[in-house]
Amino acid sequence: MSYFEQRTPPTRDQRLSIGDSFAGTGCGALDCAKEGCMQQKGRRFWQAGMCQMSLSLMMAVTVENSVIIMHAPIGCGSMLIPLGISAAKGKMKRGKAPAGPIWLSTNLKESDVIGGGEKNLRETILYADREFHPEIIFVVSTCAPSIIGDDVEEIVRSVGAGTEAQVTAIHCPGFKSRVVASAYDSFYHSLFSHIQLEPIPYKDYQPVERSDPDYSMKIRRFNAQKQMTVNLFNATSIGSQDEAELTRLMCAIGLNVRVYAEFCSAGELRMMSFAGLNVSMCNVHDDYILKYLQDKYSIPYIICGMPIGISATKAWLLEIAEHYGLADKARSLIESEEEQLNAALEPLLPQIKGRRVLISGGVIRSMSEALMLNELGMEVVGVDAAHYDSEADPVLHSFSDELPEIPFAISSQLYEAINQIKKLKPDLTIAHNGTHGWLARAGITSMQLFDTDKPFFGYAGIYRFVRRMIFALKNTSYSDRLAEHVKLPYKKDWYDKDPFHYITG
Ligand code: SF4
Repeated sequence: MSYFEQRTPPTRDQRLSIGDSFAGTGCGALDCAKEGCMQQKGRRFWQAGMCQMSLSLMMAVTVENSVIIMHAPIGCGSMLIPLGISAAKGKMKRGKAPAGPIWLSTNLKESDVIGGGEKNLRETILYADREFHPEIIFVVSTCAPSIIGDDVEEIVRSVGAGTEAQVTAIHCPGFKSRVVASAYDSFYHSLFSHIQLEPIPYKDYQPVERSDPDYSMKIRRFNAQKQMTVNLFNATSIGSQDEAELTRLMCAIGLNVRVYAEFCSAGELRMMSFAGLNVSMCNVHDDYILKYLQDKYSIPYIICGMPIGISATKAWLLEIAEHYGLADKARSLIESEEEQLNAALEPLLPQIKGRRVLISGGVIRSMSEALMLNELGMEVVGVDAAHYDSEADPVLHSFSDELPEIPFAISSQLYEAINQIKKLKPDLTIAHNGTHGWLARAGITSMQLFDTDKPFFGYAGIYRFVRRMIFALKNTSYSDRLAEHVKLPYKKDWYDKDPFHYITG
Protein backbone atom coordinates (compact mmCIF):
# COMPACT_ATOMS: atom_id res chain seq x y z
CA MET A 1 0.00 0.00 0.00
CA SER A 2 1.39 3.42 -0.91
CA TYR A 3 1.73 6.11 1.74
CA PHE A 4 -1.08 8.01 0.05
CA GLU A 5 -3.58 5.20 0.66
CA GLN A 6 -2.75 4.82 4.35
CA ARG A 7 -5.30 5.98 6.89
CA THR A 8 -2.65 8.02 8.66
CA PRO A 9 0.39 9.70 7.12
CA PRO A 10 3.90 8.34 7.52
CA THR A 11 6.36 10.46 9.48
CA ARG A 12 9.50 11.73 7.79
CA ASP A 13 11.39 9.33 10.06
CA GLN A 14 9.65 6.53 8.14
CA ARG A 15 9.71 7.80 4.57
CA LEU A 16 13.00 9.75 4.41
CA SER A 17 16.44 9.78 5.95
CA ILE A 18 16.35 12.33 8.77
CA GLY A 19 18.56 13.84 11.45
CA ASP A 20 18.35 16.32 14.31
CA SER A 21 21.90 16.34 15.70
CA PHE A 22 25.13 16.91 13.80
CA ALA A 23 28.18 19.19 13.86
CA GLY A 24 30.85 19.45 11.18
CA THR A 25 30.65 20.77 7.63
CA GLY A 26 28.11 20.49 4.82
CA CYS A 27 30.19 17.75 3.11
CA GLY A 28 30.46 15.94 6.44
CA ALA A 29 26.67 16.05 6.83
CA LEU A 30 26.15 14.57 3.35
CA ASP A 31 28.66 11.78 4.08
CA CYS A 32 27.11 11.11 7.47
CA ALA A 33 23.64 10.86 5.93
CA LYS A 34 24.90 8.57 3.15
CA GLU A 35 26.59 6.24 5.64
CA GLY A 36 23.45 6.09 7.79
CA CYS A 37 25.08 7.65 10.85
CA MET A 38 22.85 10.77 10.80
CA GLN A 39 19.89 8.85 12.18
CA GLN A 40 22.00 7.37 15.00
CA LYS A 41 23.04 10.76 16.29
CA GLY A 42 21.36 12.43 19.23
CA ARG A 43 22.11 14.54 22.29
CA ARG A 44 22.76 13.83 25.95
CA PHE A 45 20.99 17.10 26.72
CA TRP A 46 18.12 18.88 24.98
CA GLN A 47 17.07 22.37 25.97
CA ALA A 48 13.73 22.34 24.14
CA GLY A 49 12.14 21.04 21.00
CA MET A 50 9.08 21.74 18.92
CA CYS A 51 6.02 19.62 18.37
CA GLN A 52 5.00 18.79 14.79
CA MET A 53 1.37 19.50 15.71
CA SER A 54 2.11 23.22 16.00
CA LEU A 55 3.36 23.35 12.39
CA SER A 56 0.34 21.44 11.10
CA LEU A 57 -1.82 23.95 12.93
CA MET A 58 0.05 26.83 11.30
CA MET A 59 -1.09 25.53 7.93
CA ALA A 60 -4.64 24.52 8.87
CA VAL A 61 -5.42 27.82 10.57
CA THR A 62 -4.95 29.68 7.28
CA VAL A 63 -7.64 27.72 5.41
CA GLU A 64 -10.69 29.91 4.81
CA ASN A 65 -14.13 29.05 6.22
CA SER A 66 -12.77 26.22 8.34
CA VAL A 67 -13.15 25.10 11.94
CA ILE A 68 -10.35 23.42 13.81
CA ILE A 69 -11.20 20.79 16.42
CA MET A 70 -8.34 20.03 18.73
CA HIS A 71 -8.84 16.42 19.78
CA ALA A 72 -6.57 16.92 22.74
CA PRO A 73 -6.17 18.06 26.29
CA ILE A 74 -6.88 21.79 26.38
CA GLY A 75 -3.22 22.88 26.46
CA CYS A 76 -2.37 21.57 22.97
CA GLY A 77 -4.54 24.32 21.47
CA SER A 78 -2.70 27.21 23.15
CA MET A 79 -0.67 27.84 19.97
CA LEU A 80 -3.88 28.81 18.18
CA ILE A 81 -4.05 32.12 20.01
CA PRO A 82 -0.93 33.68 18.39
CA LEU A 83 -1.45 31.68 15.18
CA GLY A 84 -4.94 33.10 14.78
CA ILE A 85 -3.56 36.63 14.69
CA SER A 86 -0.93 35.87 12.06
CA ALA A 87 -3.42 33.90 9.96
CA ALA A 88 -5.91 36.78 10.00
CA LYS A 89 -3.14 39.17 8.95
CA GLY A 90 -2.02 36.79 6.19
CA LYS A 91 -5.59 36.56 4.87
CA MET A 92 -5.91 40.34 4.81
CA LYS A 93 -2.64 40.70 2.91
CA ARG A 94 -3.96 38.33 0.27
CA GLY A 95 -7.15 40.32 -0.16
CA LYS A 96 -9.32 37.99 1.89
CA ALA A 97 -11.56 38.67 4.88
CA PRO A 98 -9.27 38.76 7.94
CA ALA A 99 -11.37 36.33 9.94
CA GLY A 100 -9.71 34.79 12.96
CA PRO A 101 -9.91 31.02 13.38
CA ILE A 102 -12.81 29.23 14.97
CA TRP A 103 -11.43 26.44 17.07
CA LEU A 104 -12.86 24.01 19.56
CA SER A 105 -11.29 21.46 21.83
CA THR A 106 -12.56 18.08 22.95
CA ASN A 107 -10.77 18.98 26.19
CA LEU A 108 -9.63 15.45 27.00
CA LYS A 109 -9.29 14.75 30.70
CA GLU A 110 -8.01 11.82 32.73
CA SER A 111 -11.38 10.03 32.50
CA ASP A 112 -11.32 10.37 28.68
CA VAL A 113 -7.81 8.99 28.53
CA ILE A 114 -9.09 5.94 30.43
CA GLY A 115 -12.51 5.60 28.74
CA GLY A 116 -11.66 7.01 25.30
CA GLY A 117 -12.46 10.36 23.71
CA GLU A 118 -14.45 9.19 20.68
CA LYS A 119 -17.87 10.29 21.99
CA ASN A 120 -16.54 13.81 22.69
CA LEU A 121 -15.14 14.00 19.21
CA ARG A 122 -18.35 12.88 17.48
CA GLU A 123 -20.37 15.46 19.41
CA THR A 124 -17.85 18.24 18.77
CA ILE A 125 -17.84 17.64 14.99
CA LEU A 126 -21.63 17.77 14.86
CA TYR A 127 -21.68 20.90 17.03
CA ALA A 128 -19.11 22.64 14.82
CA ASP A 129 -21.04 21.81 11.66
CA ARG A 130 -24.37 22.91 13.11
CA GLU A 131 -23.18 26.05 14.84
CA PHE A 132 -20.61 27.53 12.43
CA HIS A 133 -21.48 26.08 8.99
CA PRO A 134 -17.84 25.82 7.88
CA GLU A 135 -16.75 24.44 4.52
CA ILE A 136 -14.04 22.32 6.13
CA ILE A 137 -13.58 20.86 9.60
CA PHE A 138 -10.04 19.85 10.55
CA VAL A 139 -9.82 17.38 13.43
CA VAL A 140 -6.32 17.67 14.87
CA SER A 141 -5.33 14.35 16.37
CA THR A 142 -2.68 14.87 19.04
CA CYS A 143 -0.63 12.70 21.40
CA ALA A 144 -3.35 11.62 23.85
CA PRO A 145 -5.89 10.14 21.35
CA SER A 146 -3.04 8.58 19.34
CA ILE A 147 -1.71 6.84 22.46
CA ILE A 148 -5.08 5.58 23.71
CA GLY A 149 -6.09 4.46 20.21
CA ASP A 150 -9.18 6.56 19.43
CA ASP A 151 -10.25 5.64 15.90
CA VAL A 152 -10.22 9.21 14.63
CA GLU A 153 -10.28 8.19 10.96
CA GLU A 154 -13.41 6.09 11.41
CA ILE A 155 -15.16 8.95 13.23
CA VAL A 156 -14.16 11.42 10.52
CA ARG A 157 -15.48 9.04 7.85
CA SER A 158 -18.76 8.13 9.54
CA VAL A 159 -19.68 11.51 11.06
CA GLY A 160 -18.35 13.42 8.03
CA ALA A 161 -20.72 11.49 5.74
CA GLY A 162 -23.64 13.32 7.35
CA THR A 163 -22.25 16.82 7.76
CA GLU A 164 -22.52 19.80 5.47
CA ALA A 165 -18.80 20.49 5.91
CA GLN A 166 -16.05 18.28 4.54
CA VAL A 167 -14.41 16.68 7.59
CA THR A 168 -10.81 15.52 7.70
CA ALA A 169 -8.19 14.65 10.29
CA ILE A 170 -4.64 15.88 10.67
CA HIS A 171 -2.70 13.12 12.41
CA CYS A 172 0.21 14.94 13.99
CA PRO A 173 0.99 13.68 17.52
CA GLY A 174 4.12 15.41 18.71
CA PHE A 175 5.74 12.25 20.06
CA LYS A 176 5.66 10.44 16.72
CA SER A 177 8.40 12.30 14.84
CA ARG A 178 11.86 13.61 15.63
CA VAL A 179 11.56 16.25 12.92
CA VAL A 180 8.78 18.81 12.91
CA ALA A 181 8.77 18.87 9.10
CA SER A 182 6.57 15.75 9.33
CA ALA A 183 3.83 18.28 10.07
CA TYR A 184 3.67 19.39 6.43
CA ASP A 185 3.01 15.83 5.27
CA SER A 186 0.35 15.38 7.96
CA PHE A 187 -1.48 18.48 6.78
CA TYR A 188 -1.27 17.53 3.10
CA HIS A 189 -2.37 13.95 3.88
CA SER A 190 -5.44 15.42 5.56
CA LEU A 191 -6.22 17.39 2.39
CA PHE A 192 -6.03 14.60 -0.12
CA SER A 193 -7.67 12.02 2.17
CA HIS A 194 -11.01 13.76 2.65
CA ILE A 195 -11.05 17.17 0.91
CA GLN A 196 -12.15 17.48 -2.71
CA LEU A 197 -9.28 18.55 -4.96
CA GLU A 198 -11.18 18.30 -8.24
CA PRO A 199 -13.28 21.08 -9.79
CA ILE A 200 -17.03 20.67 -10.06
CA PRO A 201 -18.39 21.24 -13.60
CA TYR A 202 -20.77 24.23 -13.94
CA LYS A 203 -19.78 25.39 -10.46
CA ASP A 204 -16.02 25.80 -10.77
CA TYR A 205 -15.78 25.87 -14.57
CA GLN A 206 -17.91 25.81 -17.69
CA PRO A 207 -17.37 22.49 -19.49
CA VAL A 208 -17.28 22.45 -23.27
CA GLU A 209 -20.35 20.69 -24.66
CA ARG A 210 -19.82 18.03 -27.35
CA SER A 211 -22.69 19.58 -29.29
CA ASP A 212 -20.86 22.95 -29.45
CA PRO A 213 -19.98 23.70 -33.11
CA ASP A 214 -16.61 25.07 -31.90
CA TYR A 215 -15.98 22.05 -29.67
CA SER A 216 -12.48 21.18 -30.88
CA MET A 217 -11.26 24.80 -30.77
CA LYS A 218 -12.76 25.37 -27.30
CA ILE A 219 -11.44 22.11 -25.87
CA ARG A 220 -7.96 22.96 -27.16
CA ARG A 221 -8.19 26.35 -25.47
CA PHE A 222 -9.45 24.71 -22.26
CA ASN A 223 -6.55 22.24 -22.22
CA ALA A 224 -4.00 24.95 -23.06
CA GLN A 225 -5.30 27.05 -20.19
CA LYS A 226 -4.87 24.08 -17.86
CA GLN A 227 -1.39 23.30 -19.18
CA MET A 228 -0.18 26.88 -18.73
CA THR A 229 -1.45 27.05 -15.15
CA VAL A 230 1.19 26.60 -12.47
CA ASN A 231 0.31 25.81 -8.88
CA LEU A 232 2.84 27.54 -6.65
CA PHE A 233 2.99 25.94 -3.20
CA ASN A 234 3.47 28.34 -0.32
CA ALA A 235 4.42 27.92 3.33
CA THR A 236 3.59 29.72 6.54
CA SER A 237 7.03 31.34 6.56
CA ILE A 238 6.55 32.74 3.04
CA GLY A 239 4.86 36.13 2.96
CA SER A 240 2.40 37.54 0.46
CA GLN A 241 5.07 39.83 -1.03
CA ASP A 242 7.21 36.79 -1.89
CA GLU A 243 4.24 35.05 -3.48
CA ALA A 244 3.57 38.23 -5.47
CA GLU A 245 7.19 38.57 -6.63
CA LEU A 246 7.35 35.00 -7.93
CA THR A 247 3.92 35.30 -9.49
CA ARG A 248 5.12 38.49 -11.24
CA LEU A 249 8.15 36.67 -12.68
CA MET A 250 6.17 33.66 -13.86
CA CYS A 251 3.40 35.78 -15.36
CA ALA A 252 6.07 37.80 -17.20
CA ILE A 253 7.01 34.68 -19.17
CA GLY A 254 3.37 33.90 -19.97
CA LEU A 255 2.22 31.51 -17.24
CA ASN A 256 -0.93 31.59 -15.11
CA VAL A 257 -0.20 31.18 -11.42
CA ARG A 258 -2.30 29.96 -8.51
CA VAL A 259 -0.95 29.82 -4.99
CA TYR A 260 -1.62 26.77 -2.73
CA ALA A 261 -2.49 25.44 -0.21
CA GLU A 262 -2.44 27.97 2.61
CA PHE A 263 -4.96 30.82 2.59
CA CYS A 264 -7.24 28.86 0.23
CA SER A 265 -10.96 28.20 0.44
CA ALA A 266 -12.64 24.86 -0.33
CA GLY A 267 -13.49 26.21 -3.80
CA GLU A 268 -9.87 27.14 -4.51
CA LEU A 269 -8.64 23.78 -3.21
CA ARG A 270 -10.95 22.04 -5.69
CA MET A 271 -8.98 23.69 -8.52
CA MET A 272 -5.69 22.17 -7.34
CA SER A 273 -5.88 19.32 -9.86
CA PHE A 274 -6.55 21.75 -12.73
CA ALA A 275 -2.94 22.66 -13.54
CA GLY A 276 -0.09 21.77 -15.87
CA LEU A 277 2.69 21.99 -13.31
CA ASN A 278 3.19 22.09 -9.55
CA VAL A 279 6.09 24.11 -8.20
CA SER A 280 7.51 24.23 -4.71
CA MET A 281 9.42 27.09 -3.13
CA CYS A 282 11.17 24.89 -0.56
CA ASN A 283 12.69 21.42 -0.93
CA VAL A 284 11.48 20.12 2.42
CA HIS A 285 7.95 21.49 2.40
CA ASP A 286 5.85 20.03 -0.39
CA ASP A 287 7.35 16.92 -1.95
CA TYR A 288 4.68 14.73 -0.31
CA ILE A 289 1.68 16.45 -1.94
CA LEU A 290 3.52 17.10 -5.19
CA LYS A 291 4.24 13.37 -5.50
CA TYR A 292 0.61 12.64 -4.67
CA LEU A 293 -0.64 15.04 -7.37
CA GLN A 294 1.71 13.47 -9.90
CA ASP A 295 0.59 9.98 -8.89
CA LYS A 296 -3.14 10.76 -8.93
CA TYR A 297 -3.50 13.41 -11.67
CA SER A 298 -0.26 12.99 -13.67
CA ILE A 299 0.74 16.60 -12.97
CA PRO A 300 4.55 16.93 -13.12
CA TYR A 301 6.32 18.94 -10.45
CA ILE A 302 9.44 21.00 -9.94
CA ILE A 303 11.32 21.28 -6.67
CA CYS A 304 14.35 23.43 -7.31
CA GLY A 305 15.53 25.05 -4.10
CA MET A 306 14.38 28.34 -2.68
CA PRO A 307 14.48 31.41 -4.96
CA ILE A 308 16.59 33.49 -2.57
CA GLY A 309 19.61 35.24 -4.08
CA ILE A 310 20.59 36.04 -7.65
CA SER A 311 21.79 32.58 -8.74
CA ALA A 312 19.03 30.67 -6.96
CA THR A 313 16.29 32.89 -8.40
CA LYS A 314 17.74 32.47 -11.88
CA ALA A 315 18.00 28.67 -11.53
CA TRP A 316 14.47 28.42 -10.11
CA LEU A 317 12.85 30.49 -12.84
CA LEU A 318 14.83 28.85 -15.66
CA GLU A 319 13.85 25.37 -14.51
CA ILE A 320 10.16 26.30 -14.74
CA ALA A 321 10.64 28.11 -18.05
CA GLU A 322 12.52 25.15 -19.55
CA HIS A 323 9.63 22.86 -18.69
CA TYR A 324 7.45 25.03 -20.97
CA GLY A 325 10.06 25.71 -23.65
CA LEU A 326 10.16 29.35 -22.53
CA ALA A 327 13.84 29.47 -21.53
CA ASP A 328 14.78 32.24 -24.00
CA LYS A 329 11.99 34.45 -22.74
CA ALA A 330 13.07 33.77 -19.15
CA ARG A 331 16.72 34.52 -19.94
CA SER A 332 15.92 37.96 -21.30
CA LEU A 333 13.68 38.67 -18.30
CA ILE A 334 16.45 37.55 -15.94
CA GLU A 335 19.01 39.69 -17.76
CA SER A 336 16.86 42.80 -17.45
CA GLU A 337 15.98 42.09 -13.78
CA GLU A 338 19.63 41.47 -12.85
CA GLU A 339 20.72 44.65 -14.61
CA GLN A 340 18.27 46.73 -12.59
CA LEU A 341 19.13 44.92 -9.38
CA ASN A 342 22.89 45.27 -9.82
CA ALA A 343 22.51 49.01 -10.42
CA ALA A 344 20.42 49.34 -7.26
CA LEU A 345 22.83 47.22 -5.20
CA GLU A 346 26.01 48.97 -6.35
CA PRO A 347 26.04 51.69 -3.66
CA LEU A 348 24.85 49.25 -0.98
CA LEU A 349 27.17 46.26 -1.27
CA PRO A 350 30.32 48.01 0.05
CA GLN A 351 28.41 48.56 3.31
CA ILE A 352 28.00 44.83 3.93
CA LYS A 353 31.11 43.46 2.24
CA GLY A 354 33.13 41.18 4.51
CA ARG A 355 30.71 41.46 7.45
CA ARG A 356 30.54 38.19 9.39
CA VAL A 357 27.19 36.38 9.68
CA LEU A 358 25.95 33.34 11.58
CA ILE A 359 22.68 31.86 10.30
CA SER A 360 20.31 29.47 12.01
CA GLY A 361 16.81 28.16 11.30
CA GLY A 362 15.01 25.99 8.76
CA VAL A 363 17.38 23.81 6.76
CA ILE A 364 16.60 25.13 3.27
CA ARG A 365 16.16 28.76 4.18
CA SER A 366 19.29 28.99 6.32
CA MET A 367 21.46 27.41 3.59
CA SER A 368 19.80 29.49 0.84
CA GLU A 369 20.35 32.73 2.74
CA ALA A 370 23.96 31.70 3.45
CA LEU A 371 24.53 31.17 -0.28
CA MET A 372 22.97 34.53 -1.08
CA LEU A 373 25.07 36.40 1.51
CA ASN A 374 28.21 34.68 0.24
CA GLU A 375 27.24 35.74 -3.28
CA LEU A 376 26.85 39.33 -2.06
CA GLY A 377 30.35 39.38 -0.54
CA MET A 378 29.62 38.76 3.15
CA GLU A 379 31.49 36.20 5.25
CA VAL A 380 29.28 33.37 6.45
CA VAL A 381 30.88 32.01 9.64
CA GLY A 382 28.43 29.23 10.40
CA VAL A 383 25.04 27.70 9.60
CA ASP A 384 22.81 25.82 12.05
CA ALA A 385 19.97 24.01 10.29
CA ALA A 386 17.00 22.93 12.40
CA HIS A 387 16.77 19.45 10.91
CA TYR A 388 18.14 17.27 8.15
CA ASP A 389 16.12 15.23 5.72
CA SER A 390 17.19 13.72 2.45
CA GLU A 391 14.93 16.07 0.44
CA ALA A 392 17.37 18.86 1.43
CA ASP A 393 20.31 17.11 -0.30
CA PRO A 394 20.28 19.16 -3.55
CA VAL A 395 20.62 22.42 -1.59
CA LEU A 396 23.11 20.84 0.81
CA HIS A 397 25.23 19.83 -2.21
CA SER A 398 25.26 23.43 -3.52
CA PHE A 399 26.04 24.70 -0.05
CA SER A 400 28.92 22.22 0.38
CA ASP A 401 30.35 23.17 -3.01
CA GLU A 402 30.19 26.93 -2.33
CA LEU A 403 31.07 26.93 1.37
CA PRO A 404 32.95 23.68 2.00
CA GLU A 405 34.90 24.79 5.06
CA ILE A 406 32.44 26.67 7.22
CA PRO A 407 30.90 25.07 10.33
CA PHE A 408 27.58 23.44 9.56
CA ALA A 409 25.39 21.95 12.27
CA ILE A 410 22.00 20.28 12.51
CA SER A 411 20.84 22.08 15.59
CA SER A 412 17.71 23.80 16.83
CA GLN A 413 19.23 24.20 20.29
CA LEU A 414 19.56 27.72 21.59
CA TYR A 415 22.27 26.89 24.12
CA GLU A 416 24.47 25.65 21.27
CA ALA A 417 23.85 28.79 19.19
CA ILE A 418 24.66 31.11 22.11
CA ASN A 419 27.91 29.22 22.77
CA GLN A 420 28.77 29.46 19.06
CA ILE A 421 28.12 33.20 19.07
CA LYS A 422 30.47 33.73 21.97
CA LYS A 423 33.20 31.85 20.11
CA LEU A 424 32.65 33.02 16.52
CA LYS A 425 31.76 36.64 17.39
CA PRO A 426 29.80 37.41 14.18
CA ASP A 427 28.73 40.96 13.30
CA LEU A 428 25.21 39.75 12.62
CA THR A 429 23.06 36.72 13.33
CA ILE A 430 20.11 35.77 11.17
CA ALA A 431 17.86 33.39 13.03
CA HIS A 432 14.48 31.70 13.07
CA ASN A 433 11.69 33.80 14.50
CA GLY A 434 11.44 33.33 18.24
CA THR A 435 15.17 32.63 18.45
CA HIS A 436 16.63 35.86 17.17
CA GLY A 437 15.54 37.76 20.28
CA TRP A 438 17.57 35.37 22.42
CA LEU A 439 20.57 35.81 20.18
CA ALA A 440 20.23 39.58 20.52
CA ARG A 441 20.48 39.10 24.30
CA ALA A 442 23.98 37.77 23.67
CA GLY A 443 24.85 41.25 22.40
CA ILE A 444 24.90 40.47 18.67
CA THR A 445 22.65 42.26 16.22
CA SER A 446 20.04 39.80 15.12
CA MET A 447 17.61 39.65 12.22
CA GLN A 448 14.75 37.30 11.43
CA LEU A 449 15.45 34.50 9.00
CA PHE A 450 11.96 35.03 7.64
CA ASP A 451 9.29 37.61 8.21
CA THR A 452 5.98 37.37 6.43
CA ASP A 453 5.70 41.17 6.41
CA LYS A 454 8.87 41.59 4.37
CA PRO A 455 10.13 40.27 1.00
CA PHE A 456 12.99 37.77 0.70
CA PHE A 457 12.42 36.01 -2.65
CA GLY A 458 13.27 37.00 -6.18
CA TYR A 459 14.89 40.28 -7.18
CA ALA A 460 12.78 42.51 -4.94
CA GLY A 461 13.66 40.25 -2.01
CA ILE A 462 17.42 40.54 -2.49
CA TYR A 463 17.34 44.33 -2.59
CA ARG A 464 15.11 44.70 0.46
CA PHE A 465 17.13 42.10 2.40
CA VAL A 466 20.33 44.03 1.80
CA ARG A 467 18.66 47.27 2.93
CA ARG A 468 17.48 45.60 6.14
CA MET A 469 20.95 44.21 6.88
CA ILE A 470 22.54 47.62 6.43
CA PHE A 471 20.04 49.13 8.83
CA ALA A 472 20.62 46.34 11.39
CA LEU A 473 24.41 46.64 11.16
CA LYS A 474 24.33 50.43 11.50
CA ASN A 475 21.99 50.56 14.45
CA THR A 476 23.11 48.03 17.05
CA SER A 477 21.80 49.90 20.10
CA TYR A 478 18.96 47.41 20.78
CA SER A 479 21.22 44.36 21.13
CA ASP A 480 23.96 46.39 22.87
CA ARG A 481 21.57 47.61 25.54
CA LEU A 482 19.81 44.25 25.86
CA ALA A 483 23.12 42.52 26.53
CA GLU A 484 24.00 45.14 29.15
CA HIS A 485 20.82 44.52 31.11
CA VAL A 486 19.85 40.88 30.49
CA LYS A 487 21.67 37.94 32.00
CA LEU A 488 21.77 34.74 29.93
CA PRO A 489 20.74 31.59 31.82
CA TYR A 490 23.95 29.60 31.18
CA LYS A 491 26.78 28.82 33.59
CA LYS A 492 30.18 30.27 32.83
CA ASP A 493 31.75 26.85 32.29
CA TRP A 494 29.30 26.12 29.45
CA TYR A 495 31.20 28.64 27.33
CA ASP A 496 34.46 26.71 27.94
CA LYS A 497 32.96 23.66 26.26
CA ASP A 498 32.52 22.98 22.55
CA PRO A 499 29.10 24.26 21.38
CA PHE A 500 28.18 20.72 20.29
CA HIS A 501 29.61 18.99 23.36
CA TYR A 502 26.37 17.09 24.04
CA ILE A 503 25.96 15.57 20.56
CA THR A 504 26.35 11.80 20.61
CA GLY A 505 26.84 9.05 18.00
S1 SF4 B 1 3.72 17.08 22.05
FE1 SF4 B 1 1.67 16.11 22.05
S2 SF4 B 1 0.76 16.76 24.00
FE2 SF4 B 1 2.48 18.17 23.57
S3 SF4 B 1 1.56 19.90 22.46
FE3 SF4 B 1 2.29 18.42 20.93
S4 SF4 B 1 0.49 17.16 20.46
FE4 SF4 B 1 0.04 18.21 22.41
